[in-house]
Amino acid sequence: HDLRNEDLKDMHELGQGNGGSVKKVEHVPTGTIMAKKIVLIDAKPSVRKQILRELQIMHDCNSDYIISFYGAFISDPNICICMEFMDKGSLDGIYKKIGPIDIEVVGKVALAVLEGLTYLYDVHRIIHRDIKPSNILFNSKGQIKICDFGVSGELINSIADTFVGTSTYMSPERIQGAQYTVKSDVWSLGISLIELALGRFPFADSDDDDSDLSDFEGTLSPSRPGNLGLPPSRSKQEKEKADKKKKRKSKGVSLQGGGMTMSILELLQHIVNEPAPHLTPEGRFPKVAEEFVDSCLLKDPDSRRTPKDLLKHPWIEQSRTAPIDLEAWASTF
Ligand code: ATP
Ligand code: MG
Repeated sequence: HDLRNEDLKDMHELGQGNGGSVKKVEHVPTGTIMAKKIVLIDAKPSVRKQILRELQIMHDCNSDYIISFYGAFISDPNICICMEFMDKGSLDGIYKKIGPIDIEVVGKVALAVLEGLTYLYDVHRIIHRDIKPSNILFNSKGQIKICDFGVSGELINSIADTFVGTSTYMSPERIQGAQYTVKSDVWSLGISLIELALGRFPFADSDDDDSDLSDFEGTLSPSRPGNLGLPPSRSKQEKEKADKKKKRKSKGVSLQGGGMTMSILELLQHIVNEPAPHLTPEGRFPKVAEEFVDSCLLKDPDSRRTPKDLLKHPWIEQSRTAPIDLEAWASTF
C-alpha cells in the first residue's frame, strides 16, 4: 500500500547525517514502527519523481542482511524513505557507547556485510558505495543489516551536489578517480572492521581519545571521479598551530582529529600514499582476522577479492559457525 506522510506519527529523532535526518515514527493505521529518513535535496520535480521511481527497486531487495523497505514519497521539498527500524541503532553508536567490539562479534559483522553486498550485487547488480559503521545496523534479535546503499543514480547525483562531508572510507582507487566497483566496498568494509575492533577510526592519532576524522571539514562529490571539491588550504596561522600540535604529540600518523580541522586533502593523500592500516597491535587479534582485514585493504583493487569470494575466507567460515549469541550480546547494552 502507498505510504502517506499523514499516516506517520513522529516519535523521536534517531540521528542526523550529511544528507538529512532519520526519525523513529509509527505508521498509525498498522501500528508499525519505522525509521523515516528525510533526504534534503535540491532537485527539479521531474528529477525527484525519477528518484522515487528508482527507489522502488528497494521493494525487491529481500535479504536477511539488508534493511527492509516500506516505501518512499515526496514531502515537499524533501524525499522521505521509510525503512525497517533497528532498535539497537548503528554500529558506530554501539562502539561509542560500549567501547571496542569483541573480535568474534566483528567477525559476524564481516559475514553479514559480505552476505548483504553479495546479495545486492548478484541479484540486483547494485554496488553499495557507502559501507561504514553508521550504515550497519543492529537489533535486539541479534540481526545485522546494511542500509543506505546506492540504488538510485539520480539520488546519488542530487545529494553529491548539496552535501558537505566526508568520505574517509573511500578506497585509494576511488580517490584517484576510478569507477566504483564491488571491491571499493570491500576496502570500506576493512576500514570499518578495524574501527569496530579498536573502538576508534583507524586513521586518527592513537593518543588522541576523541580523535574522529569523520568530523573534519571538506566537500566531496563521490559520484564524480576526479572531481574532489577540495577546500582551500589552511591559513598560515592555522598551519603553525597544527605543526605545534604535531610536535607536541609527534606520535602515530601526522593527522589531526578531535577539535582540529584537518585538511581533507591530507587524509586522502594519506590513504593513497601510505600503507593501509592493520588490526593492531600484533597478537591482540587472531591471525586469521588480521589476514582477512589485510586482504580487504590491499591497495591495488585488482588484487583485492570480491565480497562473494571473501565469503569463502577461513575467518568468515569460522565466523559463520562461531557459537556467539548475538541476541544475548544485544541485551548487554
Ligand atoms: P552520512 O550522512 O554521512 O551517511 P549517517 O549514516 O550517520 O551519516 P544517516 O544515514 O542520516 O547518517 O543516519 C543517521 C543515524 O540514524 C545513523 O547514524 C543511525 O544511527 C540512525 N539510523 C539510520 N537508519 C536507521 C534505522 N533503520 N533504524 C535505526 N536507526 C537508524
Ligand atoms: Mg546512513
